[in-house]
Amino acid sequence: MAHSAAHERLAALSSHLARPTAPPPDWPGALAALEATFPAHQLSLDLATRQQHGQSWGSLLPPAPPAAVLHALATSDVVAVVRIATRFGIVLIPTGGRTALEGQFTPTRQAASGEVVLPRPTIHVSLSRMNRVLELHAQDFQAVVQPGVGWASLNAYLAERDGVKLFFPVDPAPGSEFGGMAGVAGSGTNAVGYGTLRAEWIQGMTVVLMDGSVIRTKGTNRARKSTTGFDTGRLFLGSEGTLGIITELTVRLAPSVPLKVALTSFPSVANAVTAVVDILGAGLTPTSLELLDGTSIRGLNLSKILPDELPEEPTVLMRFSNPSDEVNRASLETVAKIVERAGGRELRVAKNEQENDELWKARKSQYWSQQLLIGAGCRTLITDVCVPISRLAEFVARSEVLVQRSGLVAPIVAHIGDGNVHRAILWKGAEGETERPKEVEHLAKALVKLALELEGTCAGEHGIGLTKRKYLRAELGEGTVALMRTVKRALDPLNLLNPGKVLFPEGEEEWV
Ligand SMILES: Cc1cc2nc3c(=O)[nH]c(=O)nc-3n(C[C@H](O)[C@H](O)[C@H](O)COP(=O)(O)OP(=O)(O)OC[C@H]3O[C@@H](n4cnc5c(N)ncnc54)[C@H](O)[C@@H]3O)c2cc1C
Repeated sequence: MAHSAAHERLAALSSHLARPTAPPPDWPGALAALEATFPAHQLSLDLATRQQHGQSWGSLLPPAPPAAVLHALATSDVVAVVRIATRFGIVLIPTGGRTALEGQFTPTRQAASGEVVLPRPTIHVSLSRMNRVLELHAQDFQAVVQPGVGWASLNAYLAERDGVKLFFPVDPAPGSEFGGMAGVAGSGTNAVGYGTLRAEWIQGMTVVLMDGSVIRTKGTNRARKSTTGFDTGRLFLGSEGTLGIITELTVRLAPSVPLKVALTSFPSVANAVTAVVDILGAGLTPTSLELLDGTSIRGLNLSKILPDELPEEPTVLMRFSNPSDEVNRASLETVAKIVERAGGRELRVAKNEQENDELWKARKSQYWSQQLLIGAGCRTLITDVCVPISRLAEFVARSEVLVQRSGLVAPIVAHIGDGNVHRAILWKGAEGETERPKEVEHLAKALVKLALELEGTCAGEHGIGLTKRKYLRAELGEGTVALMRTVKRALDPLNLLNPGKVLFPEGEEEWV
């Protein structure tokens, strides 16, 4: 036994020794090369900009500023910075809208508290200034965009055009950009109707690899379907900036059709799930099916965003998109019957465009209205598990017990049509707090464990980053994690591209 353990250690060591390693970091050399290659307006070296770039949304830690922010304007800029990084042993982190929630673009620290020490100097490669729509192929339902274009700005651009109205339907945070959206490959409120970014909404990408080469994942092909070879594009979807840097994307568009918002509430989440499954089973085509629990509705009522108060019980907000208002009306008549059968209240259907927007605001303002449940100093940890819809009611019921035991407030906003439950764990922050209270972390972990027990996932749409790495082995299994490592080593042998994200550094695993 002892012999075999020693043998394994030796084998691991020799395979480690055989690997290429990055040169020792040389920041003065790298800085001189950056300044010789890029004009001053493409390099931010001032502390304020660097600190802002090193801070991620909702993080309590002090900012971990990168040594520089490079604002790329072209694919050739990305190639140049990759060559500088590999020559001088510098870490690169690509960034887009910087709305990712799991620490995906935060430079990895050596110690997670107090003083910030980065193992290697880090350059944030911001793609946000590459923000042009390059081509529009309306008849092919396609656009070619640079990575700094956001889904919201692409839609604003498309809305201005004459002719058939098109839009991009996958909607993570409003500030997110296509490079970062491909990086996390999540979804949003429209996933029940249109699928996620892992479906075929991103059809091809130009990617700069860490050896300085530039590939197009689909070559010259812009056809709607193709079975040519491995699906290399998928490798980069959800790779969280660890395998290559995306500098152009061909995205699919959908026709924009009339939309109707409706809302109702149920005596329990189980009743709401029954209605949702029946709506989907009836072949109706909702684009969004969203659940707010009674606690979330209490926050909404406190916010007075809606002119009238809603009953504080599980509430389902729906959006239906069909080729005409008549089809929408007919669909909603069927929905009303399904809701009644499932024990829901009378379906409230928006009367006009204005009421559509008003009711949808109830969903979109959730983060802010939930804060009112705690008041000033409220802090939030948004959890992101997803379970098969058939297990959703059980997940909610059992998670309710966990929440009550914790003594915390944790309202639910769920993409109920996908089984994706965000429980926002709320607490009143203390002055100078840099770590979440233990009970918050315990509850978040218990929710993930419960989701895994119910054949679900720790990350429905927000990705892995730094915070969910510990669950990978339990969810995916040893073999799949090992395959991911092999891919990472093949594409980034020096481990300089967003290291430590998604996968733990080797030898530092802390599995749950
Ligand atoms: C209020 C709020 C609501 C949200 N709601 C949703 C939601 O409904 N659904 C959802 O899925 N997510 C949601 N998110 C999370 C976030 O919006 C998404 O993960 C989004 O896709 C990130 O895009 P970004 O441009 O902000 O990327 P960033 O945060 O800048 O980067 C994300 C990751 O992609 C990598 N990356 C960035 N650019 C590139 C590139 N060009 N090439 C390669 N890698 C790159 C980064 O290194 C990082 O790992 C929400 C976040 C907030 C703050």
